[in-house]
Amino acid sequence: MSQKYLVAPDLDFIKEVRELGGDSVKKCYQCATCAVACPIAPENSPFPRKEMLATAWGLKDKVLPSADLWLCHECGDCSTLCPRGAKPGDVMSAARSMATKEYSVSPKINDLVSSSKGLPVLIGVPAVWFAILAAITLFGAEPMTKIFHAIGLEWSHAHGNELAHANFVSTWLVDLTFVPLLGLIVVAFFFSLKRFLFDMHDNAVLEGKTDKAELDLKAFAQSIINVIPTILRHDKFNECGENRDRTTVHMMVLFSFISLFVVTNIFFVTMYGFGIPGPYSQLNPVKWLGNIAGVTLIIGALLMIKNRLTKEDAVNAYKDWYILGLVLILGVTGLGAEMSRLADAKFVTYAIYYVHLIAIFNLFAFLPFSKMSHLVYRVVAMSYADYANRK
Ligand code: SF4
Ligand code: SF4
Repeated sequence: MSQKYLVAPDLDFIKEVRELGGDSVKKCYQCATCAVACPIAPENSPFPRKEMLATAWGLKDKVLPSADLWLCHECGDCSTLCPRGAKPGDVMSAARSMATKEYSVSPKINDLVSSSKGLPVLIGVPAVWFAILAAITLFGAEPMTKIFHAIGLEWSHAHGNELAHANFVSTWLVDLTFVPLLGLIVVAFFFSLKRFLFDMHDNAVLEGKTDKAELDLKAFAQSIINVIPTILRHDKFNECGENRDRTTVHMMVLFSFISLFVVTNIFFVTMYGFGIPGPYSQLNPVKWLGNIAGVTLIIGALLMIKNRLTKEDAVNAYKDWYILGLVLILGVTGLGAEMSRLADAKFVTYAIYYVHLIAIFNLFAFLPFSKMSHLVYRVVAMSYADYANRK
């Protein structure tokens, strides 16, 4: 049965997609070369031709809730082959950024992360916060020790006369910042992804991309488990032709973050569960893992930056540079803070650690709003495609 669809173009949507790197969208004359060329597009209703049309018409309600947007892995094969010089890969990327804003719990924060004008706030807020925490740690040891003793806890996590970052910003204060922040991020993602998932399902039903009328959350959870190995192995990236070399670099960065997350959690349990504070020995295998992950992260970030700078027709959206710069700064300051501590360079290590804390704050606090959130949205969309039997 045919359905009536009232076309209601959203001109602001077209404008924003163009500003975010999709300025070639109007060049498309619907030849469908891109949809044929895309190595990932499903047979039924393939992308990105239909997204080019819908975006050029400003059909925001058709483009943003579509799982197809996220099945695209930005390989650029379609952009290379487009006879009109349109760049459907970049339009898809810009539309993904729009989707994260649409489903965000705070579109204003998305705007801050998407423009260089927001940078003073992104840096300034954590800079002031950690300066206050450093002042409490450096000058308030006596009252803080009394307060912590009153509740049966030790204030200082540093031991002996060894140089430790905890002497500059207390581990308590660092963890009392980041643990609640992580909780807020989980809540923000929960509300964003819930709306995204149900909209995606409605869109798939409407466009005949699934035969499942109802969304079964238990079966969807099973689909998440199904797609995790595909994501970790980067199978979809490997199907790309034009930019297959991105696979290794992408894996380096992803596995570095996973390793650093594991290391952080092990040391968290070691300290709070077993009462053994850092700094930990360099002979500790967990420390090795952390150091290897730190070096890999720096190399991965540098290679990503090099790829972007050397790719002739790359669309360099600010949002991409923000996240690439952040990843590099995280790696360099993490390793730099460690090396300078071992060299006993007190003020240098404190300064680098301060920048490192600001970078971690940016990574965590703006995770649901920055390009890093694409990983989470993509996992949900790929899981939905698996659940919906998208062919
Ligand atoms: S190949 Fe280019 S012109 Fe043809 S449909 Fe795709 S984007 Fe449009
Ligand atoms: S960028 Fe690659 S994955 Fe995305 S639509 Fe184009 S060809 Fe397909």
